[in-house]
Amino acid sequence: MNTHLRSPSIRPQLAALARKYSRPGPRYTSYPPANHFSNDIHNLRPFSSNTKPTAPLSLYFHIPFCKSLCWYCGCHTFITQNSTIADKYLDDVHKEIALHTQDSALKTRPVIQIHLGGGTPNFLTPAQIHRLNDRVRTAFTIATDAEISVELDPRTLDVDKVSAFKACGFNRASFGIQDCNPDVQKAIHRIQPHAQNIAAIEMLRTAGMSSLNVDLIYGLPLQTPESFAETIASAIALQPDRLTLFSYAHVPWMKPSQKQLEKSALPDAEAKLDLFTQAVAQIESAGYCYIGMDHFARVDDELVKARTSGTLQRNFQGYSTRAGSDILGLGVSSISQDQDSYRQNVKDLKCYTTQLDAGTLPVERGYALSDEDKRRRTLIMELMCNLHLDFRIHSNRLGVNIPEYYAAEIAQLKSFVEDGLLTQNDHCIQITDTGRFFIRNIAMAFDSHLRTNEQAHSKTV
Ligand code: SF4
Repeated sequence: MNTHLRSPSIRPQLAALARKYSRPGPRYTSYPPANHFSNDIHNLRPFSSNTKPTAPLSLYFHIPFCKSLCWYCGCHTFITQNSTIADKYLDDVHKEIALHTQDSALKTRPVIQIHLGGGTPNFLTPAQIHRLNDRVRTAFTIATDAEISVELDPRTLDVDKVSAFKACGFNRASFGIQDCNPDVQKAIHRIQPHAQNIAAIEMLRTAGMSSLNVDLIYGLPLQTPESFAETIASAIALQPDRLTLFSYAHVPWMKPSQKQLEKSALPDAEAKLDLFTQAVAQIESAGYCYIGMDHFARVDDELVKARTSGTLQRNFQGYSTRAGSDILGLGVSSISQDQDSYRQNVKDLKCYTTQLDAGTLPVERGYALSDEDKRRRTLIMELMCNLHLDFRIHSNRLGVNIPEYYAAEIAQLKSFVEDGLLTQNDHCIQITDTGRFFIRNIAMAFDSHLRTNEQAHSKTV
């Protein structure tokens, strides 16, 4: 339990740590982060060509449409009221599927995970949901126990769409609440009465969706400890299986609509950490386990089991239990990941169509991992997921003597040790309870690509 984090004696110390460590830094959903991808993609081998033809595969589909723009949004999205636009988009996605599966082992590899993200996947009509599902099931081999998940917006969800997702085999849903306070909702341009959240969770439970996740955001304008405690309580009352508590990433130079949020009071780093530690204590008191960074789950959830057994993974969707499978991203802006590389599709809808019409994969940027990148990726993901780094185990795994090979990086951890954020001896590094709030800063010690460019990332706190 982290209720001690709310004790009056520790709060000044946390405030001082927030001031010290709040700096731009990656979220490490990939290593290197996506801002290191380049347009020089000619040296990339075909997707997944270095993976066994029987190895499991994950699929990610990006549905980029939304009916209105939330001003905090950091996603690739197109605002439209016209749902027929998705018919043309699905035509293109089907062409992309065909390009990937023609003469390829991808169509026979067991797909163990499918995720629809956005944008708003429930922008799709029930007929469009079925059409995409039919195409995917024809083109790929879906494992019977596959995890099939979708991100939903309760404001535009109805029973017919829930039924369509369920009939297509979706077994996990996550939906965004962000904040329940009406003033905060006005400031972020996302009006969502809590009755819509209650209705959404009831529809999903009635349909038999086996796992439900609720997303919240801290660091939004006008949030106060009191108002955010009410939001957390409302979210807990829904009894989701998982809760995600995202840190608002203010990057207006990349997302100009976020400038609107500067008109209201945006919490500073100290205030954000205060909101977060309060929320952690409240969520843990309600019986949820803190998985890491921004994820919480009920004690019997498979994320908790993966965390306990040291098999937790991190990818572009956050934490995952499906270890080691290559991820094929389809749709605009989606990112694919295999053992050797990352590649990202074009973000523009017209370019996406043009390239597919020409019979070429719509990949725009990518990154070929060096052996050194792979070693550092392992170390960073180990810290992000398991909060622990065993030098002997990873020296054997990576073929280098970690204390010697990474002596300079380990020396950089001294200030974290002095601040009580991690402990270190000759055999391992262990991140402390307080250190979990600064995990991005700790992981950055092993990032050889880190740039001092202040505009590349959101702040770590
Ligand atoms: S619904 Fe989601 S993806 Fe769409 S604008 Fe709002 S935050 Fe962005």
